[in-house]
Amino acid sequence: MSPHRPGRLKELTGFSFALTLIQNILKDSPGLFAVTGQPGTGKTTTLVAIAKEAADLGLPMTFVTDDKTFSSKIELPEDWDFQVVDVSGNHQSLEEAWSEKLNQVPLSSGIIVDLLTGDNDEAVLAALKRGYWVFICIDTPLVGIDITYNLQGAGWNNQDILSNLKGIVSQILLPCLCRNCAQTFTANLEDTRLIYPDAQQPKKLNREVGCQLCDERGTKGRCAAYEVLWIDDQVRPILTEYLQDTTLHRPPATKYFSMNDCVRNLVESGLVGIETFKRKVFQNPLLRLQHLWEQESFRSAQIQSMFSRFVTQQVVERIVSREDFEKIVEGEKRYVTCLFCDIRNFTTRSESYSPKDLFLEVNEYFREIIDLIFQQEGTIDKFIGDAIMVVFGAPINQTDQELRAVQCAIDIQQKVAQMNQLSNYADPIQVGIGINTGEVMAGCIGSDRRMDYTVLGDVVNVAARLESQAKPGQILIGSTTFRAVQEQIQCQAVGSLQLKGKSEAIETFAVVYLQPSRI
Ligand SMILES: [Zn+2]
Repeated sequence: MSPHRPGRLKELTGFSFALTLIQNILKDSPGLFAVTGQPGTGKTTTLVAIAKEAADLGLPMTFVTDDKTFSSKIELPEDWDFQVVDVSGNHQSLEEAWSEKLNQVPLSSGIIVDLLTGDNDEAVLAALKRGYWVFICIDTPLVGIDITYNLQGAGWNNQDILSNLKGIVSQILLPCLCRNCAQTFTANLEDTRLIYPDAQQPKKLNREVGCQLCDERGTKGRCAAYEVLWIDDQVRPILTEYLQDTTLHRPPATKYFSMNDCVRNLVESGLVGIETFKRKVFQNPLLRLQHLWEQESFRSAQIQSMFSRFVTQQVVERIVSREDFEKIVEGEKRYVTCLFCDIRNFTTRSESYSPKDLFLEVNEYFREIIDLIFQQEGTIDKFIGDAIMVVFGAPINQTDQELRAVQCAIDIQQKVAQMNQLSNYADPIQVGIGINTGEVMAGCIGSDRRMDYTVLGDVVNVAARLESQAKPGQILIGSTTFRAVQEQIQCQAVGSLQLKGKSEAIETFAVVYLQPSRI
């Protein structure tokens, strides 16, 4: 964009999405369109450009001002047919002048007010309630949704704000990259990601070293950065929540052009240097929130793709909200209960079935048991042929993990029995299950291309061995699991099993549950 003052919004080159967003706001039902920024950032110019855009869309415009010199101060497009209503004069209050002069403004038109001040806030609200579009500037360092503080300060209640606020364009001015002292350099990955959030490699950026020229230029050679927010039915719930308890959720990308994205465009196109971005944008407490949102959304997208195939949506949400997410990815010692479940006679089945029938049946079986696993909030670690490995207590803690695992095993055995009764399988499906509890290493294994969460350790190997020893329909559990569930679940000691690859025998118990024939 012209580094500084656009006569028309179309001059906002490089920000075509911001322009589209503003046009969409203007096509929405009438309300308040606010342009915000600190004094001297060119708000009025932007306000006029937006109003002209509305006029081009067919909205007649009236400037309401108490400043007689208003139209001479602003460069208004020549082809613009508008009226100016002068509310200066011998009225007792601006308020009164407004209520008198509003009658001169046809309904279904727009009203442009240079600045929202303590004098005209009620008049502006009254105009909104009559159904006008109102375009105002607000002097504030606040950005985006935070300008509701200014409206509250003007005496508006939450309902006034919710039912009237439609669009917010905020702007800041940033010094342009100084051609005199600019340097192109390869930034470190951390700085690279400020501009290219998903970068895997450091990239070349421009930075300003500082020189007398840039020290002296003051407000000259600055370019504006914008934020645009459209408050429609989809975004209004976010605003409602924010007004009630200042919880701020990120608006959908289709309704929001963030200051960060805008400045990134400026940095990418070489107009602004990375040092300016870090100093003026990244360190700005109001804009920092946007970085947090972004990082949060990258992080949650990463977790969603990693876990959503293996755990329930609720668990994904809990992982996303966990502060020690890093540990999950990097690896940690965890106390878990591991469950292996395997179809007993699978090999003979695969010989006597057509592939189509086999997969039909096996997939039906997996669909059913995955539901049961998710009901107990187990994490599906992996499928190994027809076997399935499930973990309880990871990636999030479950204080009753042993009980959940054993209950899950019982549910599976009973479901399989029920499926056998209801279907006409040539051979009934039979499964053996092994469960063991203890400490493992848990973390993510793989590459950027594919990352899987898994647990490793002796506890896992023993669970797998117990499963291989289980007879059809049997659930075998190790002694640690047994001690945790013995109060709630009936079990029988089956003695010490000598497991392949283990020097010591493992004390083993079989879970007693309602047998299939009695269901
Ligand atoms: Zn310089």
